[in-house]
Amino acid sequence: MVKKIVLGLMVICFSFIHLNANAVVILQYHHVSDSTPKSTSVTPAQFTEQMQYLVDNNFTVMSLTDAVDAIKNNTAIANNSIVITFDDAYESIIENAAPILASHHFPFTVFVSPAPIIAGYDGMMSWDEIKTLAKQGATVANHSWGHEHLIRRLPKETSEQWHDRVENNILSTEAELLKHTGQSVKFFAYPYGEYTAALEAILVKHGFVGFGQQSGAAGEYSSITALPRFPVANAYADLSSLTVKFSSLPMPVLKQNISEPVLTSDKFRPKLVVTLDTSDLYPHQLMCFIQGQGAKKPIWLEEDTFSIQATADMAPGRSRYNCTVPSKTRTGYYWFSQMWIRPKDDGKWPQE
Ligand SMILES: [Zn+2]
Repeated sequence: MVKKIVLGLMVICFSFIHLNANAVVILQYHHVSDSTPKSTSVTPAQFTEQMQYLVDNNFTVMSLTDAVDAIKNNTAIANNSIVITFDDAYESIIENAAPILASHHFPFTVFVSPAPIIAGYDGMMSWDEIKTLAKQGATVANHSWGHEHLIRRLPKETSEQWHDRVENNILSTEAELLKHTGQSVKFFAYPYGEYTAALEAILVKHGFVGFGQQSGAAGEYSSITALPRFPVANAYADLSSLTVKFSSLPMPVLKQNISEPVLTSDKFRPKLVVTLDTSDLYPHQLMCFIQGQGAKKPIWLEEDTFSIQATADMAPGRSRYNCTVPSKTRTGYYWFSQMWIRPKDDGKWPQE
């Protein structure tokens, strides 16, 4: 009898831990402006509305540093936690976004590539402006030296030469940020969200945390070298589509057969096999989306393991499989996204 009660309590405790599974939603912005390209912008009015929504609905906006610490150490994260990040250090951040964020005392992070700042390109912040934000509490982090497609090898470059070039790129960027802001947090946002196992290994070697552009909440199941972020811009800037993402949860992925995003020739319809902790979800409610091909139901191979595969070849460039399923006990969907990157048929990369 006592044994049964103890067992029962253990089960309750175990479920309790799962109900409180750590989750944080990291948002990725570029411009906050009426006059910049729509594909990478939200308007100041939209940004104001989004920040006000977070206030009105009791979200906690935490710093990226606190979020990463909690994910690394698996310590508690408050429900409904959000992190705000900006890529590329555009001028509209200091002009339009920072005052709105300051009015709510919301922390934020800017991922910077030094080369365009040094070149003084139009529309970019200057080092003085970046320093000002850092002094006001912003986190300044690494976005590569010149916003290169880092996964691509140069003509005739060996894999060792590639490794040294990319390693040097990341480390010299970090040194440049330290020089100008006094910060070296070792957070790296992959340019274009592109990563490979080889690039992740360089981050691991130097103790960096990596951030992608595949969607989803981050948490205890996330890879620390490929943390997901929700891009917010254009069609994805409407509050109606964002509120679901704000409340999303990290899919409890225990195992997956492929995590390397780059697809090699003749394997352009990757068959992804994923094992989940299904204790807080109904497997039959899981739905997947193949980018460019629409919704697709997964095939359940075992009670906790499904496979999903595109019907047609994934298009050249970047694409994704997304899968979502509602939580049994919390308001919100578990969210999973796997990025794919494939070259064109001639082996070359699409122009960007
Ligand atoms: Zn960027």
